[in-house]
Amino acid sequence: MNSCRFCRRKSLKLLFPANKEEIISDPTAFACTNCGFGSHGPIVRCQFCKMIYLDEKISQRQISTYYEVAKDPLYFSEQNARRKTFSSYLKRLERAFPEKGRLLDIGTNTGLFVRLALDQGWQAKGLEPNRWAVEFAKKNYQINLINKPFERNTFPKNSFEVITMWDVIEHFTDPVAEIEKVYHQLKPGGLFAFSTVDPESLLAKIMGTKWSWYMDMHRAFFSHRAAKHYLKKIGFTKVVFQSHWRFLSLGYLATRLAAINPLVAKAAQRTISFLGLSKTVVPYYANDLFDCYAYK
Ligand SMILES: [Zn+2]
Repeated sequence: MNSCRFCRRKSLKLLFPANKEEIISDPTAFACTNCGFGSHGPIVRCQFCKMIYLDEKISQRQISTYYEVAKDPLYFSEQNARRKTFSSYLKRLERAFPEKGRLLDIGTNTGLFVRLALDQGWQAKGLEPNRWAVEFAKKNYQINLINKPFERNTFPKNSFEVITMWDVIEHFTDPVAEIEKVYHQLKPGGLFAFSTVDPESLLAKIMGTKWSWYMDMHRAFFSHRAAKHYLKKIGFTKVVFQSHWRFLSLGYLATRLAAINPLVAKAAQRTISFLGLSKTVVPYYANDLFDCYAYK
């Protein structure tokens, strides 16, 4: 077994062998609402730094080219739930960092979070490689997102008070390098806030190799332990973890039950649809995600 890609120590262990044959070569796997849940290449864990990642040779540049062209029309169907989710993220963010200032949302998708932050008085910008999402933002939210691949995020030192990444960090082949950039771009005392999937959660442990968030799009997984290790190593002075809440429509929630049992999912979908509740938005506690606030 090779050395850990992140800490270079020879302490890698195979966590799960691949449960699909081919390495990704198709942009449809990179749509935000793509359904390749639980299908993945070989997954390894470093016993030293606790990083868990897909052990496939694919560059960030290659992955960015997929994100640039992927289209995701299904994304819009959850827009009401997303608006509530992002409003709640913003409220929590403002409690953690009351003085509003310059904010960058990395991997902002259609820019809804940026729109909400602008409306609340932040000087907000969004970075998004996907051309379809950037067009969507212009047309629907009247904002000009920065349309660049992540590896070309080159803001100078001390550019922002707050940088956010909602459900983004697990998409990078090298999240540590991306966080180093974030650290550099934050002013001293600034806040880096992100949400991510948790490979050491109870649900991930129960589901094992079939855990929904093991998928082509997700390249590296920050457990609490790995996040703490690297955030401190990079230089963040205070790291706070929180449980993760979001809003989902009952219709979407029912489709996600398919990860546990397709028959149960179908029955739930039919019942919810029969009752006319598919679009009803409900709060949802995700055991297998967490939020993290790291202060520079
Ligand atoms: Zn390591």
